[in-house]
Amino acid sequence: MAQASVRLKRPLDDAALAGVGAVLGRSFAVTALDRGGEGLSATVSDDVSDERLREALVQVLRVSRHAASEQGFAHDPADWRGEDAQPALEARGDVRRLGPGLFAFGGAFLAVRAALDTLVQAIAARQGAAELAYPPLWPVGVLRDINYFHDFPQLAMLAPGVAPDFAARTRFSEAHRRGSGPGAIACTAEDGLAPAANALAPTVCDCCYWLLRGRSDVADAAFTIHGTVFRNESSPAGALERLTAYTMREVVVIGSEGFVLARREALLAELEALGRGLGLRCTIEAADDPFFCNDALQKGVLQGLARLKHELRVVAFEGRTFAAGSLNLHNDFFSRSYGYALAGGGTAFSVCMGIGLERLAYALFCRHGLEPERWPAPVRALLGLGAADRAGQAGLPGAARTG
Ligand SMILES: [Zn+2]
Repeated sequence: MAQASVRLKRPLDDAALAGVGAVLGRSFAVTALDRGGEGLSATVSDDVSDERLREALVQVLRVSRHAASEQGFAHDPADWRGEDAQPALEARGDVRRLGPGLFAFGGAFLAVRAALDTLVQAIAARQGAAELAYPPLWPVGVLRDINYFHDFPQLAMLAPGVAPDFAARTRFSEAHRRGSGPGAIACTAEDGLAPAANALAPTVCDCCYWLLRGRSDVADAAFTIHGTVFRNESSPAGALERLTAYTMREVVVIGSEGFVLARREALLAELEALGRGLGLRCTIEAADDPFFCNDALQKGVLQGLARLKHELRVVAFEGRTFAAGSLNLHNDFFSRSYGYALAGGGTAFSVCMGIGLERLAYALFCRHGLEPERWPAPVRALLGLGAADRAGQAGLPGAARTG
């Protein structure tokens, strides 16, 4: 346990206090965060020194002072209503829990998720994007070379295999017989596990850049990738908006600075049209990546100042807002990290737009109700949902269908 206090030079309002709590919570198990007359004090249950916690608190406060509140786009439909659709989606079996942050999907939810993927594919096609596919397991070098493990340790997930020798295989085989316990499997050599050479993909675009490493003939190009991504987090309440594994479609643009910046403007306009066209109450605003409380957090400040990241934030229902997509301008981050250049030696830039398909589908059910057949005609048209066809939307096996 650790406790630390810092004096506040300026007062901290409620929103800023909540922001500090959220950022600190990425790195520590925060048990108390109090704003007194003197300053701000935090208590965490982690095994960390008071001094280290104090350092983190100072860093987080510095970042929160720079938090971007600029809002570029807002769509607030006059007829807006929103209600949490998750209980009903679970009751009728469209959504079923496998474990914390892990869900199975079927029925109308899955149909809408697929329609959204097709919709983002169409955005990609307008950018002339070529379709690519990567496995959900990546060599750890893909992430280590961009400092992912240093910047986002709280999100990282590794995939070790059993060590390739008879003794280790035997140990593992014996230790994990059926009935050997419901607990997690320790990833140690004693348990027969080999060091992890692969990590679970936390996003879908990085392999695009990694495969260019060492090249000096990179041309202007756009790509699109669909994949399952993994983050070591889940909603404590089991809500659909924070999943450990979810699907994402990205549009990626690589090339000269001018080409990338022009495409970024086009993608920003597409993101606005998406939010508006789907009838969502939403904004597009500058945002930070969830950097860990070490020197990585400073990057968040720079990122915010340079407005490199924009998020499509959706109000699903009163009191529940989340990002369903983002537009990330990397400048030359990937070409510097992986070592590649444009034909002729110029610096290669990149930008990507990623849409979290489950989050966006969830937002649509909250906004328009449980029956896509009854959604507004323009929304149905945009999603390419044809005549109502419930017969083709069987629920998941074993699901109790009540709707
Ligand atoms: Zn990306």
